[in-house]
Amino acid sequence: MEENNTKDEIPGRSLNFIEEIIEEDLRSGKNGNRVHTRFPPEPNGYLHIGHAKSICLNFGLGKKYNGKTNLRFDDTNPVKEDVEYVDSIKEDVKWLGFDWEDREFYASDYFEQLYEFALILIRKGKAYVCDMSADEISETRGTPTRPGKESPFRNRTVDENIDLFSHMRAGEFPDGAKVLRAKIDMSSPNMHMRDPIIYRIIHTSHHRTGDTWCIYPMYDFAHGQSDSIEKITHSICTLEFEVHRPFYDWLIQEIGIYAPRQIEFARLNLSYTVMSKRKLLELVQNKFVSGWDDPRMPTICGLRRRGYTPEAIRNFADTIGVAKRDNVIDINLLEFCIREDLNARASRVMGVLNPLKIVLDNFPEDLVEEMEAVNNPENPSAGIRKVPFSKELYIEEEDFMENPQGKFFRLSPGKEVRLRSAYIIKCESVIKDPISGRIREVHCTYDPLTKSGMPESNRKVKGTLHWVSVKHALKAEIRLYDRLFTVENPDNAEEGKTYIDYLNPDSLQVKTGYIEPSVKQVLPLDKLQFERLGYFSVDYDSTAENLVFNCVVTLKDKRPK
Ligand code: ATP
Ligand code: MG
Repeated sequence: MEENNTKDEIPGRSLNFIEEIIEEDLRSGKNGNRVHTRFPPEPNGYLHIGHAKSICLNFGLGKKYNGKTNLRFDDTNPVKEDVEYVDSIKEDVKWLGFDWEDREFYASDYFEQLYEFALILIRKGKAYVCDMSADEISETRGTPTRPGKESPFRNRTVDENIDLFSHMRAGEFPDGAKVLRAKIDMSSPNMHMRDPIIYRIIHTSHHRTGDTWCIYPMYDFAHGQSDSIEKITHSICTLEFEVHRPFYDWLIQEIGIYAPRQIEFARLNLSYTVMSKRKLLELVQNKFVSGWDDPRMPTICGLRRRGYTPEAIRNFADTIGVAKRDNVIDINLLEFCIREDLNARASRVMGVLNPLKIVLDNFPEDLVEEMEAVNNPENPSAGIRKVPFSKELYIEEEDFMENPQGKFFRLSPGKEVRLRSAYIIKCESVIKDPISGRIREVHCTYDPLTKSGMPESNRKVKGTLHWVSVKHALKAEIRLYDRLFTVENPDNAEEGKTYIDYLNPDSLQVKTGYIEPSVKQVLPLDKLQFERLGYFSVDYDSTAENLVFNCVVTLKDKRPK
């Protein structure tokens, strides 16, 4: 990993509870001073900002403690998984700035070993083949307050179980005909300990093992053992796995292998969006969004396309910290992080989204003046650029009011404003469409002595507006985004509704904007600040002929119209 690629940790930050555990383990010499974590996605969808949190946490700990972090695909369900997802996951982890080096692993690489582990359990009388259907198994599991019923197949002999399990592997039974179950305790208060299923029959090709297998380990049977095989010291996962931990530990102990320590933290929830892969897949499949990388999606590829940077996402992950209790993070915090990052690095340009034509009556007809504009006031080394200025300009419609009421410091009849990096102008008259009454153009005069550096340039005027020269401006498609959902927590739908009912019909608005000509050479994912409006990123659809920009985030906590 590049040294300067990861934002330095906030100095003086106190340890989070996971770091405390790790440091205690290092002090006591557990694991021989090793720290080894992993990020274990199931390749059944694209990664989202919640996964980014987990990636930053796992790789961050690896880095902080001079340890290692594996990328491991928990690919135990061939029905839902695909190489498309594997590829996207690798791309996203890399893009976030993390490096698993040569440690790219797959649970499917361990299928033979896992099969052997299952045989160990069978030989110890700790697992059995059960012929009950999935429905029967769930009906006999009982409830948290009522014990389950033992399977009539629970007391098969070891030999019979070994024989049946090998026939399951040989493909002699159809899907669902038999399962292998751990033999633990049907009256355990922990439902996950009530003879959980550890293997099932699925006659489906796997994206890596092809048709080698028709029995597949359940996630719980693969995950902990994979951690153990890889000698993971701290297996960090989200809170819903806390109730799985006794089973995780039970398996490791009964099989008799290296024991990683599972530690749970609260998953990241973000307001105004959904995060479950199933729901994100539904949004894609039902075309509520244009794809996994639709800039409104909370996916990493969506955020990337929108114009988010890895630095902003890492900073966000760091800022929210690690919690033990579920909570919802305000999406404004994510937006704050990207604003902060782009403020430091995005060049400023001028672009007008809702044009109103200004004519400077006293400006020579064919004159074009090159005005000097500062690229980034936060970063003097970004230099200056030339912006053409001419007789006809566009300003934002909302920066002019014919009959201003109260405090309106922008352009209105008889009033002066400054045009950024150019002159002070004064509004002289308004020309309207005789039929609609709509303002067609606003006539102004400019004061030639107010160009920057000139004696009058410091004259006090209250408003400063952005502008573009009509004949030099480039037309661009501008995509403006609002929240994907209209409510903070769309998962929490009221009776008779689903999260789909809360989709925001106005989450995408497409406009034609007029941008200064310096942007001509931009490339996809280039980032700019459109002065006074927000940060914009060049979309993948953009070409030299048809520029397309995504609004990453507005300058302030409001949306451009
Ligand atoms: P689903 O979205 O359907 O619940 P998943 O997100 O759990 O699935 P995995 O591929 O199993 O999908 O997740 C990989 C890793 O990312 C796991 O360790 C998981 O705990 C972690 N993770 C998933 N969602 C979040 C989240 N919102 N916040 C933090 N970590 C997460
Ligand atoms: Mg999961």
